Amino acid sequence: MAWDFETEPEFQRQLDWIDQFVREEVEPLDYLLDNPYDIHNPRNKKIVPRLQAEVKRRGLWACHLGPELGGQGYGQLKLALMNEILGRSRFAPIVFGCQAPDSGNAEILAHYGTPEQKEKYLYPLLNNEIVSCFSMTEPHAGADPKMFTCRAELDGDFWVINGEKWFSSNARFASFLIVMAVTDPEAPPYQRMSMFLVPSDTPGIRIIRNVGLGTERGEGDHAYIRYEDVRVPRDNLLGKRGQGFEVAQTRLGGGRIHHAMRTVGQVKKAFDMMCERVLSRQTQGEVLANKQMVQEQIADSWIEMEQFRLLVLRTAWRIDKYKDYRLVRKDIAAVKALMPQVYYNVVSRALRLHGALGISNEMPFSSQIIESFVMGLADGPTEVHKVTVARQVLREYTPAAGLFPTAHIPAQREKAIQKYAQLLELEVGNL
Ligand SMILES: Cc1cc2nc3c(=O)[nH]c(=O)nc-3n(C[C@H](O)[C@H](O)[C@H](O)COP(=O)(O)OP(=O)(O)OC[C@H]3O[C@@H](n4cnc5c(N)ncnc54)[C@H](O)[C@@H]3O)c2cc1C
Repeated sequence: MAWDFETEPEFQRQLDWIDQFVREEVEPLDYLLDNPYDIHNPRNKKIVPRLQAEVKRRGLWACHLGPELGGQGYGQLKLALMNEILGRSRFAPIVFGCQAPDSGNAEILAHYGTPEQKEKYLYPLLNNEIVSCFSMTEPHAGADPKMFTCRAELDGDFWVINGEKWFSSNARFASFLIVMAVTDPEAPPYQRMSMFLVPSDTPGIRIIRNVGLGTERGEGDHAYIRYEDVRVPRDNLLGKRGQGFEVAQTRLGGGRIHHAMRTVGQVKKAFDMMCERVLSRQTQGEVLANKQMVQEQIADSWIEMEQFRLLVLRTAWRIDKYKDYRLVRKDIAAVKALMPQVYYNVVSRALRLHGALGISNEMPFSSQIIESFVMGLADGPTEVHKVTVARQVLREYTPAAGLFPTAHIPAQREKAIQKYAQLLELEVGNL
């Protein structure tokens, strides 16, 4: 019977190495360098490739991929244990070759790409020689893809793309964009769209502005883009015509659970800081940790964090078991719905217990709070994921044969009486 909560000693040694490497070599970059995706920035180039080489030597590069694509084929459970360490640092995913959205984009290129597309886009992406962008959400439509209007029309041997996209993360650093556009407006809703590979130097791509998050100032990372008569060769279709929604779902299943794995790392980071704070801060003659209301916050945080972590690990385990994201849709949606809540709860307690320091920009908590809202939006809002969970749960639930709830309990009682009255020497009429 396999029901095990321990890590194999051999893999634990790898995790210990990753933990030390991330703390000592990678986390310092979060204080010094600006954007991990700015891979051609001379400052990034001085440090990041050296650390990536170390990770490759250690055999830990791109662990989300199978060996045929240069990864370790570890599967999702081991990846979850790794990612909860990498999640602590902004730079760690890129140092280990598993950063979003490139990891998801690589996944769909590997799955649906032609040999030529793989040569041109996938392999440079896997080596982090380039970075990419996923351009799907539109200014007037996010959670409901049926509302998308960005069009792609065939003109001879070229697709011509026209429309607007919103929150296309990292577009300003990307060498190519994966764009979802309507090709067949008359088809059933989920067969109207197709996916295109669009090199970012194609004429007609105009970044209207790069939007930032929360209190960020200056240029942000999330592009509002206008595509104006953007022409790409016919062969730049990724997957089949009309298959865009399916391709997006393939990508988003993995993307969502990988975000959750990294979020466990962020939650743990805030929790560790909270423990350190309450054990060291004195007030009214004793440490904060002695106050019962503080203890409640520690207890609630630990309980929520462990529940979330176990749900993530179990979901990862189920992905490895079934090897089909469709069979774990409910689990991934549940993780996705839980993630922003736990992240927000733990971080807001950590912020409060640090007092003024907690809300200052010397601590990570205020940006983590914004990040917790991001986790409730990016890859679909929480409400939509809760609907998925509820629908699947109810679909799998079989009500007691043909009985109304009002008749259910009396019927069960009657059955119990019939079954045990004799043994209990009870007279049926007296019950
Ligand atoms: C930091 C960040 C990065 C992103 N990166 C990318 C990217 O790289 N590429 C890309 O294409 N997109 C990206 N997105 C966009 C993201 O996928 C969308 O924000 C998301 O799909 C929600 O769409 P929307 O923002 O238009 O919200 P809407 O669809 O307008 O929803 C707004 C709110 O309405 C409610 N709501 C919506 N639908 C329902 C429903 N069915 N039932 C009940 N309530 C509902 C929810 O409260 C929801 O939060 C990113 C978003 C963020 C925040």
